[in-house]
Amino acid sequence: MDRLTRRILIGIVAGIAVGLALPEQTVYLKPIGDLFVRLLKMLIAPLILSAIVTGVVSLGDLTRLGRMGGKALAYYLTTGTFAVLNGLLLVNLIRPGEGTSILVHETPEILQKGPPNLLNDVLLPIVPTNVFQAMAEGNVLAIIFFGVLMGAALSVLGDRGKALLGVLDGLGAVMMRITEWVMAVAPIGVFALMASLIGASGLKVLLPLFKYVVTVLLGVGLHGAVTLCLLLYLVGRRRPLPFIRSVSPALTTAFATSSSAATLPVTYDTLVKKAGISHRVASFFLPVSSMINSDGTAVYEAVAAVFIAQVYGIHLTAAQQVLVFLTAMAASVGAPGIPSAGLVTMAMVLRAVGLPLEGIALLLPVDRILDQFRTACNVFGDCVGAAILERSEGDGVDRGEQNEGRVLSRPAE
Ligand code: ASP
Repeated sequence: MDRLTRRILIGIVAGIAVGLALPEQTVYLKPIGDLFVRLLKMLIAPLILSAIVTGVVSLGDLTRLGRMGGKALAYYLTTGTFAVLNGLLLVNLIRPGEGTSILVHETPEILQKGPPNLLNDVLLPIVPTNVFQAMAEGNVLAIIFFGVLMGAALSVLGDRGKALLGVLDGLGAVMMRITEWVMAVAPIGVFALMASLIGASGLKVLLPLFKYVVTVLLGVGLHGAVTLCLLLYLVGRRRPLPFIRSVSPALTTAFATSSSAATLPVTYDTLVKKAGISHRVASFFLPVSSMINSDGTAVYEAVAAVFIAQVYGIHLTAAQQVLVFLTAMAASVGAPGIPSAGLVTMAMVLRAVGLPLEGIALLLPVDRILDQFRTACNVFGDCVGAAILERSEGDGVDRGEQNEGRVLSRPAE
């Protein structure tokens, strides 16, 4: 374990301890945690734009873009399918909602805007009407869309595009360096985040929903430890433990921030510098993945939807379970990498299956804590995907310049 990871872990443990011991005082720590998340978010838009544009240009020709895109899509679909099936299996076996008598009558606040619509709220905004606005609002998918087009145009422009490409390349290097500085204060930020989180909700909120919490954690844990590690080993040809060790700063940051998007700079930095992933693969794969590849969220959507049905005593037919499967996949893709996004897209699943939307209120008390675990799983899924893509596409050409060339976790072949 490197020094940074050790310090972040100490920050997490100390934060939990302080949150439990002095819950009221943790309000003073909250601004420090918020400050850390703001620092991370500050990096996202410029990092993504520079990474995507230089990533696309470094692919060389546009057929490679299509091929890598196809592989990434196949990876998202495969792991998403495993994740949802895993969640469905566990929730049907454990039946956490049966015999639970907590019923809710108020409509949760997050539903006041109504459930999000896949076409209007998720798909259409991918094409920005104003690029600068997309940057200003941190609309990641829109930035990616524009970045891919810009990269494609720069690759065909040749010499005339060189100056701009140089600027974006420099911008990327600058963002990576700032990420390192931000990571130096991560242990303090993580400590403050954990303390204020535990201080605000406490661990005792977990008790009434204990079986539900266990089902989600088991599902997310199995997906990470079994499915993703097997894929990493068999397809990515890397030993899981050293790999996990090398990406651990990203996993712990995801856990503390509950946001894959905010963690993106760290994920990028650790994958390139410590896990031997090339810039080419990382810059192409990670921005998109941090937004749409959400395995932990997929497990959670399936478990939570069936849990709500069980609490309300609604028997789900096989056809309805298939519907849960399909919409849970869509909801995990539609959930952007921000805190509680999965809770909001949950409404899509419930509406499609015909379950009461008020059921979401049941999940609220424990959601923040579950969000931490599913976000860590989401980010781990992104890292494993990058390792697999690296194995099939990477050629290590641009590996040397910013990483120390340490391929820590390649198994002997
Ligand atoms: N917070 C998660 C993420 O950032 C999304 C979710 O709410 O499930 O990946």
